[in-house]
Amino acid sequence: MAKKRGREQKPEWVPPAGGREFATRVRPGMEPPAGVKNLREEKRGPRRRPLSVAEHVRGVLQGDRSLLARTITLVESNAPAHFRKAQTVLKRLLPHTGRSFRVGVTGVPGAGKSTYIEALGCHLLESGFKVAVLTVDPSSSVTRGSILGDKTRMDKLSRQPDCFIRPSPAAGTLGGVTRKSRETIRVCEAAGFDIILIETVGVGQSEITVRSMVDFFLLLLIPGAGDELQGIKRGVVEIADAVLINKADGDNRARARRAQDEYAAALKTMAPATPGWETRVHLCSALTGAGVAETWTMMRRFWEWVDGSGHLEERRRRQNLEWTFAMVEEYLTGRFYAHPGVDKRVPEIRRGISQGKMLPTEAAEMLLEVFFAGDAES
Ligand code: GDP
Repeated sequence: MAKKRGREQKPEWVPPAGGREFATRVRPGMEPPAGVKNLREEKRGPRRRPLSVAEHVRGVLQGDRSLLARTITLVESNAPAHFRKAQTVLKRLLPHTGRSFRVGVTGVPGAGKSTYIEALGCHLLESGFKVAVLTVDPSSSVTRGSILGDKTRMDKLSRQPDCFIRPSPAAGTLGGVTRKSRETIRVCEAAGFDIILIETVGVGQSEITVRSMVDFFLLLLIPGAGDELQGIKRGVVEIADAVLINKADGDNRARARRAQDEYAAALKTMAPATPGWETRVHLCSALTGAGVAETWTMMRRFWEWVDGSGHLEERRRRQNLEWTFAMVEEYLTGRFYAHPGVDKRVPEIRRGISQGKMLPTEAAEMLLEVFFAGDAES
């Protein structure tokens, strides 16, 4: 049998003060002791009673963790049966949203995003804020075991009562951002979180997607590695409200300062991501904590400035428009490819195009005709 990772590797021995959950980490094939619920099963809970809309809404507004998590699961669900219910819940939560500060954090794997978010999150909690983190789940990451190793991400933060962490899979093209991240942000806001940190692995379109749902966008870099090495495209620097050179500690300090100068010079030639706000390059060490509080002071200055000047409202209005049209496009694309006639012809089109026997314009026209003809009949 393949070696099991994590919890399941634990021996059957249970310490006297192991706690309720420890006692329920049951090896496959073993029955839990009488009277002890198997929380693993309970969490998966296929037999759980579905909650009513009112229960979801009340639970979220009361800040109930487990109901918050279940509401996010409902909102993220792709099942058509959940769609209406999720929409009703969201509609009822919407008047309680919009008051938080939404921060996107991006960087390649290994840049120190989770270490930074943990350090920043702890600082925010100490300052009295309630913090929600939508983070990348390393257990689903393709880099598992190499860069991320077996370490538990955000271990300290995850144990804080005023912090809620929601992991999403890193696999796939959106690097931890899901199609429903915007909705998840709203649900967390309704639950009373003041600051929402959204992590994304810098791959493909993920930075652009996150930028379109946050108030402030932070790019984490490491010193000594060229842009190419870090997979950072110029476009990403352009959409950042702040660039953070992380790991500016030990022998790295001089390199970090050089990187700071280089990026500062590059930024001078670019238009700022937020008109009126100068995107600066900051140094920090997420590991030692040096410079982390200062990054928050800078973000807070931004927050106060955008909030007071109408910039925040305007950005969010624009984002709501983008969100609306993105939803329409997604819905239409889904319907288009689910159309039986279209579905049937796609393989033929693929063959035709790759063998050079068909023109893309002709192929697209043909698919659209099939779709609209089918639509007219129905
Ligand atoms: P992520 O993949 O971007 O989330 O990166 P992680 O936060 O998992 O960090 C990757 C590795 O870099 C880990 O081994 C961290 O301990 C280390 N690391 C993170 N921040 C710092 C830092 O400020 N200084 C140093 N020296 N190492 C760091």
